[in-house]
Amino acid sequence: MSHFYMNVDNRTEASIASEQISINALKVIRRLTEHGYEAYLVGGGVRDIILGRKPKDFDVATNAHPDEVHELFRNSRLIGRRFKIVHVHFGGDIVEVATFRAARDDAKEDIDTEDEDQLNQTESGMLLADNVYGEFEEDVFRRDFTINALYYDPEKEEVIDLVDGEKDLKSQTITLIGEPENRYREDPVRMIRAIRFKAMLGFSINEASAEPMRELGYLLQDISPARLFEEFLKLFMSGYAAAVFEELLRYELFGWVFPDSRRAMDYAPAEKLIRAALDSTDRRIAEDLPVTPAFIYAAFLWYPFVEEKKRLEEEGVSHVEASNEAAANILAKQQLFTSIPRRFSGPMRDIWYLQYRLPNRNKAQSLVRHKRFRAAYDFLLLREQAGEKLDNLGEWWTEYQDANETERQTMKPKPKRRRRRRRRERPT
Ligand code: ATP
Ligand code: MG
Repeated sequence: MSHFYMNVDNRTEASIASEQISINALKVIRRLTEHGYEAYLVGGGVRDIILGRKPKDFDVATNAHPDEVHELFRNSRLIGRRFKIVHVHFGGDIVEVATFRAARDDAKEDIDTEDEDQLNQTESGMLLADNVYGEFEEDVFRRDFTINALYYDPEKEEVIDLVDGEKDLKSQTITLIGEPENRYREDPVRMIRAIRFKAMLGFSINEASAEPMRELGYLLQDISPARLFEEFLKLFMSGYAAAVFEELLRYELFGWVFPDSRRAMDYAPAEKLIRAALDSTDRRIAEDLPVTPAFIYAAFLWYPFVEEKKRLEEEGVSHVEASNEAAANILAKQQLFTSIPRRFSGPMRDIWYLQYRLPNRNKAQSLVRHKRFRAAYDFLLLREQAGEKLDNLGEWWTEYQDANETERQTMKPKPKRRRRRRRRERPT
């Protein structure tokens, strides 16, 4: 069957100049087609170029099998166990090449036997393995959204659009391909992806695609913590975290991924703190300043941590032990949903623990030299922004950092009784 039929309308609408495509992606496509394979640029790269945005990466889709692709490129590596893709390396640049594949869903009942269904889907309909190679058309329809299913043929300079993706790009709409509920059941992460693209592009989600989300949010519990951590990074570390957060709340998905954080919104200013943290993350990314997931996790889980610590202290556990235990408990619970690699959980604890040391103004000299001081200070400001009354501690630290050595000497180490009370409470 021909793979080249296309909507003539769409041919005129697409404006893709080859200068916008990475030369390496073009090289990969040319080499594959020279060897008789079909190969296209696809996914976010095509979408972003048509929108006039700078693509993050370039994905290539081809009918060549992974080992055939690997054979053609000496500079390539086979990636993945279940479903193999090929990374073609050009120095630091990587072009990802995926073989056309077919999704197994209800739309293809006719070929799926019952046994195969059992093998490939959980009861809720989630795909366990979508490792079936397929035809071009199948590759189009197994993709998530119409705006992500545009294929560009650089030789013909044509966009192939079998799903009205260009129309949706024009009307700024995110439309799931196929029957929404089925597609979310197959892979619940698509709900999060819809939100990410909405926040990132400022699009709206088409009504039929948005409708099942509140009902189906619970399916996110089936997703592995490792995969949800990857999604976490894309959601909150890409420069539009604040918008993502609003959408996750709007579609009632936030609590399925961050249950303790969601609960904390009912008894503490958690929502304000998270918003402040995400706003600041977005601002820093816009200014090209470094950001870390540790800080975001610290904000998401701060009030659950405080609450858990309080509970332990009421049971008679000392401040230091309660801190350690509370942090461990809260982390362990969150890791049932999203993993938190050690390189982030360590700094996150530091930020939390320093919150209890920052009131100690007469230790200022050593505290400012703590390697996590700056993050802890930023965090303190956010807590105040969220409404915690901390005796203007943030302002004090701001002045302290601005002051020179002599001025620092004269800065009153501390206001009255609070310190003494703290001292007595502290276990020795
Ligand atoms: P980004 O700009 O974030 O990279 P993207 O659209 O390229 O956005 P990727 O995660 O890189 O997203 O995926 C590449 C393409 O693979 C998507 O455009 C989409 O066509 C397809 N895809 C990715 N994830 C899914 C999924 N869960 N279900 C169906 N198709 C998917
Ligand atoms: Mg991509």
